[in-house]
Amino acid sequence: MPATAPSLAVFAAPGRYVQGRGAIETLGSELERLKASKPLVLLDPAVRDIVGEAVDAVPGVVVAEFGGECSPGEIDRIAAHVSEHSADAVVAVGGGKAMDTAKAVAHPAELPLVIVPTIASTDAPTSAVSVVYDDDGAFLEYRFWARNPHCVLVDTQVIAGAPVRFLVAGIGDGLSTFFEADASSTTRAAAMAGGAPLQAALTLARLCYDTLLADGVAARQAVERKVVTPALERVVEANTLLSGLGFESGGLAAAHSIHNGLTALHETHDFWHGEKVAFGVVAMLLLEGRPTAVVDEVVDLCLDVGLPVTLGDVGVDPEGADLRAVADLACAEGETIHNLPFAVTPEMVVDAILAADAYGHERRTLRERSRPLPAVAS
Ligand SMILES: [Zn+2]
Repeated sequence: MPATAPSLAVFAAPGRYVQGRGAIETLGSELERLKASKPLVLLDPAVRDIVGEAVDAVPGVVVAEFGGECSPGEIDRIAAHVSEHSADAVVAVGGGKAMDTAKAVAHPAELPLVIVPTIASTDAPTSAVSVVYDDDGAFLEYRFWARNPHCVLVDTQVIAGAPVRFLVAGIGDGLSTFFEADASSTTRAAAMAGGAPLQAALTLARLCYDTLLADGVAARQAVERKVVTPALERVVEANTLLSGLGFESGGLAAAHSIHNGLTALHETHDFWHGEKVAFGVVAMLLLEGRPTAVVDEVVDLCLDVGLPVTLGDVGVDPEGADLRAVADLACAEGETIHNLPFAVTPEMVVDAILAADAYGHERRTLRERSRPLPAVAS
């Protein structure tokens, strides 16, 4: 991460954010605004049938198919396309890995960058960070860029057409934003943007959390029916813009470190980032000793939208798994868990994980027991 003087606070954001039904139809005019006449679009082949026509309609467009991994080789391959065609802008259309590849091509070449997320599963679209993997998908490094995308264009009709698990995972990732920014603000830890959080980041993070509580269930229902509603619009904004700005300038803490720790267990690899982060949020709240009412609120939302609340929900057997290895990784030097306002040890993390698992089991059982009761007539 680029260094900023420790006393300074920093807020970073994309130049422009556009969201709504049919937003992708404005890709051409957004590129015109950036004075781009030969844009290279990095297109995820999985969404060609859905957005291919809108992409092909952009004047002067050159389309490159995304290979599937944000790896050094793929970044070099797309960069070669850009120079071969003398492209004057880079556009990513797809998921987080396509976006991160486009960032890693556009920024070193100092070209305008437009991000068109076709799912709302992560808060990657607005940020100035690429997560780079090797060709087998193992994590290699973070690459930090000097600026955020010039434009983020989110078509909610496209998001509504994607499988619901993407939106739900995005809610899990968004659930962490407020609690992690809140912790980071007490210690004035430097966020990804390179400085301590401003009130702006905290306020957006809080709005993200409140939006997910208010509209999370209705948004899930909308995507199940593939319809666009105001509740879906607000949750897409929360998952993408509010969570993106909130984490980048507000800071991460224990939930993401516990997520990183869980990736040590092979059995969690079938579960998505936001799903593991959601379990990490509950463990973080118990590690911090937050009031029961807050933990109940988070666990209930997870149960309502279909996010994991127990170790079993992320494929882990609490008896057999090496939770100490998870905790050691979560507490590694440089991990954001150390942004908490107290010293954290691996023992504390193991206990918080087991406590979260117990909490999730009990809350689920309580709700299942109460469900069949008939309404009492008055
Ligand atoms: Zn995340």
